[in-house]
Amino acid sequence: MNDDAISQHHESTAHDYSDDHEPKRHPQQQTPNSRHTPGSLQAHGSLKTPHPRYARQALFRPIGRDGQLRLGQSRVAIVGVGALGTVLATQLVRAGVGLVRLIDRDIVETTNLQRQSLFDEVDAENGVAKAEAAAAKLRQANGEVTVEAQVTDLTWRNAEELLSDVDVILDGTDNFEVRYLINDVAVKHGIAWAYGGAVSSYGSTAFIRPGHTPCLVCLFGEGANGGHDTCDTVGVIAPVVSVIASIQVAETLKYLTGNLDALSNVMTLVDLWRNDFSQMNFGSANPSCPCCGKHTFHALESRTDGLTVSLCGRQTVQVRPAVSNSLNLRQVAANLANHGSVRQNASLLRCDFGKFQITLFADGRALLHGIEDPHEARALYARYIGM
Ligand SMILES: [Zn+2]
Repeated sequence: MNDDAISQHHESTAHDYSDDHEPKRHPQQQTPNSRHTPGSLQAHGSLKTPHPRYARQALFRPIGRDGQLRLGQSRVAIVGVGALGTVLATQLVRAGVGLVRLIDRDIVETTNLQRQSLFDEVDAENGVAKAEAAAAKLRQANGEVTVEAQVTDLTWRNAEELLSDVDVILDGTDNFEVRYLINDVAVKHGIAWAYGGAVSSYGSTAFIRPGHTPCLVCLFGEGANGGHDTCDTVGVIAPVVSVIASIQVAETLKYLTGNLDALSNVMTLVDLWRNDFSQMNFGSANPSCPCCGKHTFHALESRTDGLTVSLCGRQTVQVRPAVSNSLNLRQVAANLANHGSVRQNASLLRCDFGKFQITLFADGRALLHGIEDPHEARALYARYIGM
């Protein structure tokens, strides 16, 4: 909470929804290329009052009645409805954001249940699509909100269609390939987005506002890959997921209700096992950034699906990252040791998973033996090698 908000809070004795403070301009009204005016009070009129279900949230002064009405007029998209995504979706739907779009390609599995709080054993048994299972539960939690389920992979083909009509995009993905796509759409269309990642007991998050903060490319360059720790190799504990997702939602609520002064403008890093909490100053956007400086949108325009997948004869698929990585094979071998027998030398490693085998080269290229379906090969690569 910023000093302003704290003093407002202390000065106030009111316990109703009266808005005796200056209404803030909505963030979207400050961006020249904005096409959306969510929560526009003119459009809504001051006679409207929020549903009583939001009483405790509207009583929180920095949000207030106006902020609550703005939330009701706002639209968000959540990319990835897994561990982070289920927490993001739960909080945003219950907060009364007008439209919440859920985008996910996967189905619910038993191993999700430890941390993906919207799913249950029946969903896993029936192999229900995550976006649909989550949407069904959330519509029961708040019938006022439009919850949209999109069961699809986010790619350069559909990213603009699915993301360019919202006020905030929230990252619930587990890979940088999709994050660069989100960043391209966000910068191109002037949309704020909440980066978030969590694995093992650590995570990081940042709220990115094109034109006001650095973008993902400013922060990480164009070749970030997440370090190749994935939830499937080193695991993840639920509390770190909740912490990161909660920070993403808090920043989103500040933004959507016009509380721009309260935004953190830092990258927040936490490791709950090591009791580390730190923040890194953003600095300013890099004027020569290819994305937000020069407006070249490589992830959108390269028209590759990131991982090139090709068949090499019967029951072998080659997967090659669009940008070649320099892998630490020893680290990857250690991560894979729980899943199968691993042999490794300086230039490659081979892991036998029983039903299939992966041969992985130091530049990130892999051969998946025992697999015929390119989609399955891509999914297995993302799961065990990471991207
Ligand atoms: Zn940038």
